[in-house]
Amino acid sequence: MANIVAIVGRPNVGKSTLFNRLIEKRQAIMDDVPGVTRDRHYGYAEWVGKYFTVIDTGGYVTGSEDKFESEIRKQVKLAIDEASAVIFVVDCRDGLTGFDKDFANVLRTAKKPILIAANKADTPDKSILAAEFYALGLDAEVYPISAENGSGTGDLLDALVNTFPSEGKEDPDAGIPKIAIVGRPNVGKSSFLNALLGVERSIVTDEAGTTRDAIHSYYKMFGKNFILVDTAGVRKKAKVKDDIEFYSVLRSLRALEECDVCIIVIDAERGVESQDVNLVSLAQRQGKGMVIMVNKWDLIEKDTNTADKFKKEILDKIAPVDYVPIIFSSVINKQRIYQVMEKAVQVFENKTKKVPTSKLNDTILPLIERNPPPSTKGKMVQIKYITQVNARFPSFAFFCNLPQYIQPSYQRFLENRIREHFDFEGVPVRLIFRKK
Ligand code: GDP
Ligand code: GDP
Repeated sequence: MANIVAIVGRPNVGKSTLFNRLIEKRQAIMDDVPGVTRDRHYGYAEWVGKYFTVIDTGGYVTGSEDKFESEIRKQVKLAIDEASAVIFVVDCRDGLTGFDKDFANVLRTAKKPILIAANKADTPDKSILAAEFYALGLDAEVYPISAENGSGTGDLLDALVNTFPSEGKEDPDAGIPKIAIVGRPNVGKSSFLNALLGVERSIVTDEAGTTRDAIHSYYKMFGKNFILVDTAGVRKKAKVKDDIEFYSVLRSLRALEECDVCIIVIDAERGVESQDVNLVSLAQRQGKGMVIMVNKWDLIEKDTNTADKFKKEILDKIAPVDYVPIIFSSVINKQRIYQVMEKAVQVFENKTKKVPTSKLNDTILPLIERNPPPSTKGKMVQIKYITQVNARFPSFAFFCNLPQYIQPSYQRFLENRIREHFDFEGVPVRLIFRKK
């Protein structure tokens, strides 16, 4: 189940400050990566073991001053359609404004849980002012917070994660790969989907998924079942160019949350764009499998080195992620479209497989012995054994005497050895160091 949280509110109330606070912990881990754009408006957050995608809607408003308000309203409508919960940010110091009331009117139509974050309640006397926002008449609790110093955000997040559907409900589709086709507008996603669905006539059902709009197609190919998480339909809802861009981001985020493996489609003529790099980085953080499909390959003039050069350019942009298979396709010529699906299914298998502990230790421990972790502060670091733990994506626990002294470069070394010996193409791998 996708947990997507939209942060909405008029400009300057502190949306992006709150957004940054929500994602800072995880962001800090993965984002010291060249090529990843900083002005990110969505990210992955965690609170008490629950994971969710956060969108800062404020980041998407473009255009001139005079269309500012109507643009915001439109985008907020789109966002609440996609979100599973909404944080409506208001400003305690300004008090209730007309613009806040306009927002509330838009939100009133949404049948989604809403939480009102009364921001800039930096001190207790300011918190008292928060009660004013009950006058908005929304069916929502008001939480005085300070996005800047963090006070009150714990209560807000507790309430937020409580709105998420409880897990543990039997998933009828468990074990069937869920594959999403994501990417920027116009790269050929719908054409690809149509080509797949048009030729193969083995769709079992076409059934509304967990949300009103998401259609999941059950599909069978090479004797294997899988589910295509639909991302089409962007154009029907969003007519203006900016909206298409924004809406396609929302759809991609939702599809990413719901899938096991995503096929990131890029346009061969445009190459990797920052949006694509963001998707790769988000997928990596969420532990999703990935395949990059370079579509419209028919439009590129080629010599023998073109594909290799292209591949290298992509890898440079998405570095340090270096394990994603890249396939050059032309949907129009039906070139390699099945190969893409086949690869996606393989990636799913890589994502779900478990390496037996004995095999893991027999293979990796001798390599560690030959190339042990460098001693730190005069201390010898010893890795005693390794086991793959149960997790959403391949995760390996290394038991050692001084886990805190394992350096990032050595972690990289270990990850590379694991990838070398056990095929994890297309899947993020996580290493955990535990004291033993
Ligand atoms: P957005 O336009 O809604 O995304 O708002 P920003 O996050 O950019 O914040 C607008 C201004 O409010 C910035 O100057 C922030 O530093 C300030 N701000 C944000 N949160 C707080 C807060 O909790 N307390 C105070 N005093 N200022 C805040
Ligand atoms: P979406 O927005 O990602 O779903 O993109 P569409 O499937 O709507 O395709 C956008 C445009 O690209 C359409 O005009 C397609 O005919 C065209 N297109 C899709 N795949 C290819 C391809 O492999 N080669 C070429 N030349 N054009 C393609």
